[in-house]
This record gives sequence, C-alpha cells and structure tokens, in this order.
Amino acid sequence: MGGAVEMTGTNQPLSGNAMPRFGGIATMMRLPFAESAHGLAAAFVGVPLDIGTSHRPGARFGPRQIRAESALIRPYNLATGAAPFDTLQVADLGDVAINTYSLEKSLPIITAFYERVLAAGCRPLTLGGDHTIALPILRAVAARHGPVALVHVDAHADVNDEMFGERITHGTPFRRAVEEGLLQSGKVWQIGLRGTGYAADDFDWPRSQGFTVVQAHEVWYRSLAPLMTQVRDRIGAATPVYLSFDIDGIDPSFAGGTGTPEIGGLTVPQALEIVRGCSGLNLVGADLVEVSPPYDPTGNTALLGANLLYEMLCVLPGVRCR
Ligand code: MN
Ligand code: MN
Repeated sequence: MGGAVEMTGTNQPLSGNAMPRFGGIATMMRLPFAESAHGLAAAFVGVPLDIGTSHRPGARFGPRQIRAESALIRPYNLATGAAPFDTLQVADLGDVAINTYSLEKSLPIITAFYERVLAAGCRPLTLGGDHTIALPILRAVAARHGPVALVHVDAHADVNDEMFGERITHGTPFRRAVEEGLLQSGKVWQIGLRGTGYAADDFDWPRSQGFTVVQAHEVWYRSLAPLMTQVRDRIGAATPVYLSFDIDGIDPSFAGGTGTPEIGGLTVPQALEIVRGCSGLNLVGADLVEVSPPYDPTGNTALLGANLLYEMLCVLPGVRCR
C-alpha cells in the first residue's frame, strides 16, 4: 500500500554468533545503518528530543538507550511466527538532528526528515524522545497519506490546549493534530488513560472529537485482544494507521523509567496484545516515546521499549509468518 517498497530483506540483524551481543556498533537491533531511506521498506529513526517535557526530563537519551537494550533481540518472533527480515528491507537511519535549544525550530526539522523517509515508501518506526515529536511526524504522515487513523497508548490524553501558555509541548500533540486535520477522529483510540487531572474535560474533549477513550481501570485484569478486534473492524484494512505508544501507558512497575509516571497502568502482556493486534492494519508508521534513561537504572524500561518497537516491525504490512 502507498507505494511501500517490498523486497527480500537482505539486511539482517548482526547475529550473536558473528559478534557478541555486547559488542559491535549500537544500531537498533544491530541492523545496518543507512544514510537514506531509499530502498527500505521500514526503518528505525531516533528523535532525541525532550525539551517538550513537563516534569522529569531525560527522554533525549531514549534512542541511544533503546538501541543499547535492543542488542538482545533476535530476528524471529517465537510467539507470533513473524519473520520481518525475510521480506522487508530494514535499517537504522540514525537520529534526527533536532535543535535542542528550540522546540519551535525542531518541529520542521523533524517533519522534513519524515517527509523524506515517507517519500521513499519507507515506514518509519521512531525511538523517542518525548511525545511532542508525534506532532511533526503526523504532519509528515498526513502530508503523504492524508488524515490517518490513530492507535494511541498512553496514561495521558495529550490533548491539552496549552501548558504554561505554550501550545507545543508533550501534553498537546493530539489537540494540535485534530486542529490541523491530521487525524480521522472517528478512528482514534486512546488506550490506558488514567491518573489525576484538573477536570473531567481532560478525557471528555477527545470523546467530543469522536475519539474512543479506553481508561486503564476499564481494562484491568482483561485481555485487550477483543478491543483490538473492534479496532481492526472499525479501521479496516486500507485506511492508513499510525501507532503512537507512550511507554507511560504501561504501569510504572514495568516501565518506571519515564517522565510522568502514573500508577495502575497497563501490563506488558496487554501492551503486546495492542501491538500484535495491529497486524492486518495498514500501519504507515509508529513510535515509542517517553523512555527516560536517567530514571531507568535497570534498563528495563528501555528494554521494554526496544521489544515493543520490534513487535511494531513484526506487524507491518508485508511481514510474513513462518
Ligand atoms: Mn504522551
Ligand atoms: Mn504519557
């Protein structure tokens, strides 16, 4: 779909039998680094930006730490049978050279980078970075594909109008995305929302736009597979879909290395059900944001982020199961 490049995956993650897993260049999954998305069906991209953060900083170090923790991930998915490197040409495109002194200047830099990636027919999988980056990425995605459906996993709705008087922050991207017509609002799911707020409007505004809000407590103890069946039925196979995954959607007991943790979150199996439930959708891009290594001394949050990015790769169109 959408002119995606499909070919045999000649790029392979460097095997642990060719180089010890703790050695070699720290690309995502030990894949080859590529200067350009030309010829790639999918690519990992880092966006080391955290100047949109409202509380704990550190997500600027996310891409580097996710890459480090990805060193243990092997190419074949033993749960789903997905073998992404059999059919997709995949590489690590490195990081977007954001301007760490200016959010305003960083946004068009990010959009321009993703426009080039998407123009090559490549599906970007993003290592964040704070959630601000979803807005400039969605601008590029919508410029290429038109308004997209969205699966958004998060503790927070990220639909504030302003924070401290600012319209561009990690708590505002999906309000801006609606205003700019980047989303098919009737095909947006926000999953895992919870915590304390200022008013009920925090979650009522997205509902008023046609979003489906699934609060964490509504799905405690439950499989999310039935929800994802509904999501697939409503979105359909042709509609372009973007998956934006804030690691704080998952409970801090699993993923405490993040900037704005909220108790009572999703479990790791539920997170896997969400990502695996995107199989069959026309996923045109995805991100994993808000991993903050300074608050992640065990590396568990980055390890989880790395594995969720791999699972996102495993559900891209064109991936076959063995
Ligand atoms: Mn978020
Ligand atoms: Mn969040």
